[in-house]
Amino acid sequence: MKVFDEIESEVMSYARAFPRVFNKAQGEYLYDEEGNQYLDFLAGAGTLNYGHNNPIFKKALLEYIEQDGITHGLDLHTKAKREFLESFYENILKPRDMTYVMQFTGPTGTNAVEAALKVARKYKGRENVISFTNGFHGCSLGALAATGNSHHRGASGVSMSSVARMPYDGYLGDEFDTTAYLDKVLSDSSSGIDHPAAVLVETVQGEGGINAASVEWLRNLQDVCHKHDVLLIVDDIQAGCGRTGSYFSFEEAGIKPDIVTLSKSLSGYGLPFAVVLMKPELDQWKPGEHNGTFRGNNLAFVTAKAAIDHYWSDDKFAKEVLRKGEYIEKRLQTIVDKYGDGNMTTRGRGMFRGLNCVSGELADKITTEAFRNGLVIETSGADDHVVKTLCPLTISDENLTKALDIVEAAVAKVLKGEDVPEEKDFFADDVEQENRTLAGAA
Ligand SMILES: *Cc1c(COP(=O)(O)O)cnc(C)c1O
Repeated sequence: MKVFDEIESEVMSYARAFPRVFNKAQGEYLYDEEGNQYLDFLAGAGTLNYGHNNPIFKKALLEYIEQDGITHGLDLHTKAKREFLESFYENILKPRDMTYVMQFTGPTGTNAVEAALKVARKYKGRENVISFTNGFHGCSLGALAATGNSHHRGASGVSMSSVARMPYDGYLGDEFDTTAYLDKVLSDSSSGIDHPAAVLVETVQGEGGINAASVEWLRNLQDVCHKHDVLLIVDDIQAGCGRTGSYFSFEEAGIKPDIVTLSKSLSGYGLPFAVVLMKPELDQWKPGEHNGTFRGNNLAFVTAKAAIDHYWSDDKFAKEVLRKGEYIEKRLQTIVDKYGDGNMTTRGRGMFRGLNCVSGELADKITTEAFRNGLVIETSGADDHVVKTLCPLTISDENLTKALDIVEAAVAKVLKGEDVPEEKDFFADDVEQENRTLAGAA
């Protein structure tokens, strides 16, 4: 690890939990330089919904590169962009009866959030925005202001204002509908909450600990927005692109957000790509007013189109996600029933699920033990207390079973009080043997 320790900034994070040098990946498998095989339940934090190096997208990408297709074109019209837009319209927007225009932002999620906030503030001529406890929207200043996590916020170095925080669904217990509180403060001219331009929300909070809002809460939230003439922005960067069992995570609630941000799995291939969808009347931008050198990544257009054509031309894939999601929930519930101490719970929707261990230390021990057994799996939440089962949606049933077996074994081992071995012991001979066997075709 010498070069990483000496040259790479201390800001690295995932690399600390998984101290290996990875050199190959396919589908739900990751490989390190020593030839060990891992099942990947990190999946780029929701960027690899269709698995690593999906062969269908890879073929389209290789052909495009071979033909000297445009790689970089600022926001020029390109054939790749046209084909992506046509496919997105035909397969995603039209069947859902959605009328949105699409803005290509800089290729990170946080830049899409910046653009969404800017356009909402511009359109409404108001500064304040409502975001929620435990929300995560990115690390650039505007998006960070809307983010709850103090670890991230603390790094800003400047004050972050123009955002008011409201309790997310369930924050004050199951009995309390926090949209009623939002309605109350927006109705009260002395609440101290300035009339906002928009409400920014995740339907399932990914980094915040897989907190899933109920469909009723989302509908009530939309009603409150309509009542007070406030725009509804759904940040679908992590929950979107199929993760919850529909292309957009808000479809089940039947709501119609004014603005939607998409990124992570949009390209399908792990290529940087982010967009803002907005109702046409909101599109008040002057040419180039919000731009970015890499807005509209043409290689990502190619793989994103392949992803939509292949997985979203009918509802087969969405049904598969729901089926596997139910299986994950069943397995996690079994773990809770067998080993939980009364506090442990399951969380999430579709294949966006997690095991709430309440304690960050316990969650860390579980993921460390799972990694020792060939499963790359992370935690999320305020205290990193939720084990996040974010595998590729395309995972085989066999590997899904195998991975959840590893999670269950890890929980059993950790809760029986056995010590998790030191990192240097991770690949002691027997474990190494086990992982090489798991490798099969490696
Ligand atoms: C990851 C994420 C972002 C930020 O995306 P980046 O590409 O990391 O800037 C914003 N919102 C949500 C919900 C996310 O999960």
